[in-house]
Amino acid sequence: MAKGRTEIAELGEFGLIDRLTSKFQKSNSSTICGVGDDAAVIEASKDKAVVVSTDSMLEGVDFDLTYFPPKHLGYKVVTKGISDVVAMNAVPEQITLALGISSKISVEFLDDFYAGVEFACKEAGVDLVGGDTSASVTGFVVNITAVGRAKKSEISYRSGAKEHDLICLTGDLGASYMGLRLLERERYVLQGIDNPQPQFEGHEYLLERYLKPRARYDLIKSLRKEGIVPTSMIDVTDGLASEVLQICKSSKCGARIYLERIPLAQQTTRLAEEMNIDPVIAALNGGEDYELIFTVPLEKREEIIKLGCIDIIGHITAEGTGAYLVTPDGNDITLQAQGFTPKQ
Ligand code: ADP
Ligand code: MG
Repeated sequence: MAKGRTEIAELGEFGLIDRLTSKFQKSNSSTICGVGDDAAVIEASKDKAVVVSTDSMLEGVDFDLTYFPPKHLGYKVVTKGISDVVAMNAVPEQITLALGISSKISVEFLDDFYAGVEFACKEAGVDLVGGDTSASVTGFVVNITAVGRAKKSEISYRSGAKEHDLICLTGDLGASYMGLRLLERERYVLQGIDNPQPQFEGHEYLLERYLKPRARYDLIKSLRKEGIVPTSMIDVTDGLASEVLQICKSSKCGARIYLERIPLAQQTTRLAEEMNIDPVIAALNGGEDYELIFTVPLEKREEIIKLGCIDIIGHITAEGTGAYLVTPDGNDITLQAQGFTPKQ
């Protein structure tokens, strides 16, 4: 009998991953954590673990070479790889890079791309230890695998958040999304014009956040110094709403995020207003910020404030209470991975 055809859109990304991987059972006792977190956790010794994550970036899907300089792309790929390791509270140490190279890519392009990779590796203290090089007929493709290490007791899973825990956030949100919108606007406005002169003045921070985001390995170091292990952690790649929902799903809990506590940079708010975009929507759904969302017990409040540059944006609530964005006038809005709708 012929098999029916199911469109991938019917399952969605997470439904698809679940369908493909749920039948797999662990056959090695060294596999501590498999699919479902930012990275897999593998036993290395009695008290240490190795953390592994893999990610891809595809031309035309994840980046557009008409405005993405190759050096920045190399830097960003490293960030994308090591950010998932960092989100497990592990220190990234090695990466491998696999490339699919199309005919329009030159050696000089690849030199620049690797200059960006080298810069990011040096900055993060990470070694490039291998990879693969092949041809591609569908544009430039990069796959990165990142490896890191931590004590087993230091690893932060998505699943450890407890009721009353504080929800903390590094940096600000929405800037990367606005950087992308700016690049797309300038490309649209200048199409067909010889020697185009895009207007980026006053928006430098947004461009840097989109083209050259830095993974927050600095937080891991600060947390270690203070002896704080987050009860849960995730990096912001799909937007605040989606990441908080992931923590709620894995930790079997609810959450309340306070709208006025979501940190937004001045340049983000300014361009969003100019483009008629709600900057809070950019923070909730934009993504690619590579900041960290983590939870700590309520009694760690003072220690977290002392670390500096961390915002406490909400707290964890009991299972079944739902995940909400609380507006300054006290309305609860249901958090959704894409957009949000008022509570009935
Ligand atoms: P992240 O955005 O943190 O990189 P993803 O949303 O890409 O995580 O993936 C969620 C989880 O599903 C991760 O644990 C990842 O390893 C796993 N995963 C994603 N795609 C696949 C796949 N094709 N096969 C097996 N596991 C996958
Ligand atoms: Mg992640």
